[in-house]
Parts: sequence; C-alpha cells; structure tokens
Amino acid sequence: MSNTEYDVIIVGGGPAGMTAGLYASRANLKTLLLEKAIMGGQMMTTTTVENWPGYPGGIEGPELMMRFQEHCVEFGLETDTGTVEQIIDNGETKTLIVDGEEMTCKAVIIATGAIPRKLGTKGEEPLVGKGVSYCATCDGAFFREVPIAVIGGGDTALEEALFLTRFASKVILVHRRDQLRGTPILQDRVKANEKIEIAWNSVVDSFESDTSGLTGAILKDTLTGETRQIEIQGMFVAVGVTPTTGFIKGLVDLTEDGFVKAGEDTQTNVPGIYVAGDNRTTILRQVSTAVGDGAVAALMAEKHITELEQ
Ligand code: NAP
Repeated sequence: MSNTEYDVIIVGGGPAGMTAGLYASRANLKTLLLEKAIMGGQMMTTTTVENWPGYPGGIEGPELMMRFQEHCVEFGLETDTGTVEQIIDNGETKTLIVDGEEMTCKAVIIATGAIPRKLGTKGEEPLVGKGVSYCATCDGAFFREVPIAVIGGGDTALEEALFLTRFASKVILVHRRDQLRGTPILQDRVKANEKIEIAWNSVVDSFESDTSGLTGAILKDTLTGETRQIEIQGMFVAVGVTPTTGFIKGLVDLTEDGFVKAGEDTQTNVPGIYVAGDNRTTILRQVSTAVGDGAVAALMAEKHITELEQ
C-alpha cells in the first residue's frame, strides 16, 4: 500500500463505516475505507434484520450489507483491505500505520465496531470450535437434532436461541437474572417457543467434554449457589460485545470497557478523529444508530477539513 494522502480515512467497513464513506465521498472528500477482513461487519453473521426501515418482512444481514457496499462505491468511495495498527495524531494531519506502512489524512473516522465477548469461564477456550461458538448463523447447522444452550438474555441471545430451534432438538437459554434484557417482541417469541427452555438465574460454572468436544455443562444458580448438570453438545455464547479499540488505546479517551468516549457529534477528545457505531459510548447499538453515527461523523470530518483550509 502506498503512502497516499486522503482527506478522510475510515477504519472499519460495517454499517457505520460504509455510511460515513457514502456521505464523505458524496461531499467530494477523497476518502478511503479500510477493512481488515470482510466488508459488512457483524451484520455478515446476522440472520434476518427486522428493524431496518423500508424492508417489511425483514432482509438478511449479508444482503443488506451488499447493498450498502454497492451504494457507497457508487459515490466514489475507495475501499481496501488492511489492518490499522496505530494512528498517530500530528495535529493537522493523522498518520495511520496500516500493515506496517504509513498513510496520511486530515481526518479519521473510527468505525471498527465490536466483537462477541467471551464468557471467561475456565475451559471455554479449548472448546471453541468443538462445541462452543459465538455465532449461531455460522455454526448452527452443525447441531442438528442435539440439545444445545445459548448463554445471555439480550437481543443477540434471543435471536440466536430462536434461530437455533431450526436445527437443535432443544435449546436451553441460560440467563443470569430472572428477567430478559432483549426486546419484548423477541422475549414473547422465545417464551412461546416449545423448543426453548429458560434456565433463569443461572450461569455456566464449568464445561464437560470428551475427545469429541462439548458434552455438557454445570450451571450454577446465582441466588442459591446450587448446581445442576445439563447435557448439551453445543453452546452459543451471546453475552454482549467488546469494542475493537485496542489499537487506539492512549490516543483517544476510552471507557473502562474500551468504548470510545464521544457524544452524538461523534467527536473524540482529539480534533479530527471521530468515532461511529458500536464502539462509541451510546445507549443503543443497531444498524440504524450506526448509520446515523456514520453520517454525522462524515459531516464533522468535512467541517474539520474546511476549517483547516481556512
Ligand atoms: P447485551 O444487550 O449487552 O446483552 C448481553 C446479555 O448477556 C445480557 O443479558 C447480560 O445479562 C448477559 N451477560 C453479560 N455478561 C455475562 C456473563 N459474564 N455471564 C452471563 N451473562 C452475561 O448484548 P447483545 O445481546 O449482544 O446486544 C448488543 C447490542 O446489539 C444491544 O444494543 C442490542 O440491542 C443490539 N442488538 C440488536 C438486535 C436487533 O435489534 N435485532 C439484535 C442483536 C443485537 P444482564 O441482562 O444481566 O446484563
């Protein structure tokens, strides 16, 4: 990759990054979007998106992202594959170290999103790919007619539990409290599904396995401390997300959990650096909010560049 100068470099190709790219390119800013893997972000491992306006009946996550990509490229957005290792603030310019090489620009939009959080229970790591998974749409079909568990009580856990009933003989939804966190409409569907059993006030205490992989788990009651064994061959962990912000630690202010501190204007504490989407401190993390952030971040970057030029 050559040392090219851009007006804006966007890091991350999910809904927030692509929308920022669309707006920035449409504003005639020379814009590059860098994505380290596949364009589309977390939406690429999502099933039907029901709450993206304009698609009654829903649209599959990957299809929606394909349309996003087509749309932003239509306005001249350049995209490339590359891992941003570091961002250096030089004041009026920013230097990005991308796969060991330097690139410069006037404004950066960080839209690196978040990745599924690990449970953190002993024995989890060696069972990843041998029964333990973080993506129902990726791995669900491996668990046909066998009992499985989904851990978590948020929207992701509820959606995954419902999706997995297509394959599994039984889905045990393990939640640490006595109330689910996810949207009421999903809660109702989960509770009405005969294949789903909810293990309330429960956490995973340990795993059971043999040479073939996961065979069961010990659940612990969070109120009484009592334990019970469940027989499962698959466990889908859906306990929230960790923001992908390790590479900007020390550059911009982060919360203890690693989210970039910024308000609705997407402005970080460093002038010319903006944050959009799931890695920003916000009350809602949806495609619609990521899209809103992307648009605002592009506008902010445009204003910043205009001020630099005055
Ligand atoms: P989330 O909303 O943060 O929920 C995480 C769940 O995991 C919570 O129920 C939490 O329990 C539980 N949990 C956290 N740490 C745990 C641990 N160590 N052990 C056991 N349980 C643990 O995360 P999410 O479901 O991944 O959703 C992330 C964001 O994306 C949310 O804003 C969500 O609304 C959004 N999303 C939206 C849709 C949609 O609109 N269709 C779909 C998916 C995700 P507590 O409830 O006790 O905290």
